Amino acid sequence: MKIKFWGTRGSLPAPLSATGVRAKVRDALLAARGHKLETPEAIDAFIDTALPFAVRGTFGGNSSCVQVAAGDGPYFICDLGTGVREFGARMMAKHGAGKPQVYHVFMSHVHWDHIMGFPFFTPAYIPGNIIRIHGCHKVLEEAFLRQQADPSFPVHFDKLAAQIEFITLETDRDYEIDGLRVRVMAQHHAGESYGYRFERDGRSMVYSTDSEHKFDVLDESYPFIGFFRDADLVVFDAMYSYADAISVKEDWGHSSNIVAVEMAQMARVKHLVLFHHEPIYDDYTIETMLGETIRFEEINRDGHQVRVSTAYDGLEIEL
Ligand SMILES: [Zn+2]
Ligand SMILES: [Zn+2]
Repeated sequence: MKIKFWGTRGSLPAPLSATGVRAKVRDALLAARGHKLETPEAIDAFIDTALPFAVRGTFGGNSSCVQVAAGDGPYFICDLGTGVREFGARMMAKHGAGKPQVYHVFMSHVHWDHIMGFPFFTPAYIPGNIIRIHGCHKVLEEAFLRQQADPSFPVHFDKLAAQIEFITLETDRDYEIDGLRVRVMAQHHAGESYGYRFERDGRSMVYSTDSEHKFDVLDESYPFIGFFRDADLVVFDAMYSYADAISVKEDWGHSSNIVAVEMAQMARVKHLVLFHHEPIYDDYTIETMLGETIRFEEINRDGHQVRVSTAYDGLEIEL
């Protein structure tokens, strides 16, 4: 099962500025002093091995959108943040308008950052495409209609040419959707949000964003431990640093990297991916937070090792 991240930023898109690009170029040139970089191959090797990701790349620019079981259709997408625009462009390049596809969408919730990409999802404008939007909120359809109503957007939702269906899911039962096993879990967040556990071919992946974890003592009785249990991959809302999460941003509906590690270790998750990055954190801050999280995982480890990564737009993980 392949996972592809199209949008990883929380709350709203956060593009890299000219100042941000310049700082990276400067850091790269400083790091290059004294290296023999005379061939394109030597330059590529230097970029890939000697530069930290915060210098050679960038974390999330687009808001939440993650592809599950990536490959040929039918397609499975979690959330419709601005990352879905690029996914749609890839689909148009691959299939054109002549080969209709089926897209299954799983919505964590309908906060704006999770739906704002949909009006720019080109396959929605193509007749023959089928888009099934799954979710647990009663206001699911209304949220999509409203975002494309006057005066907010020029093309009304009912003018989209694709066949678009809204499907209500319930928690605490298993679904089989086009070969993918799906289970849903209610999460603590303003207006409620839902996490998804997907399984196929003996592999499992949990998508759990916009979720604040609250417990007196973390133990096996906390329902998310069972939900995460033995997952090959957990995509986790680690929007805030621990200091922020327990002080000023407590009750803001998001979690921290520290809670992420504690839960992943208890549930014996194989790979934890930090997701939904705080927009005010720059690439250097996010990379530092990743280093601290990996270190905390080592210190707090009790036999079971959890691999820790942080998501960026374009990241692909094969399970
Ligand atoms: Zn969000
Ligand atoms: Zn939210």
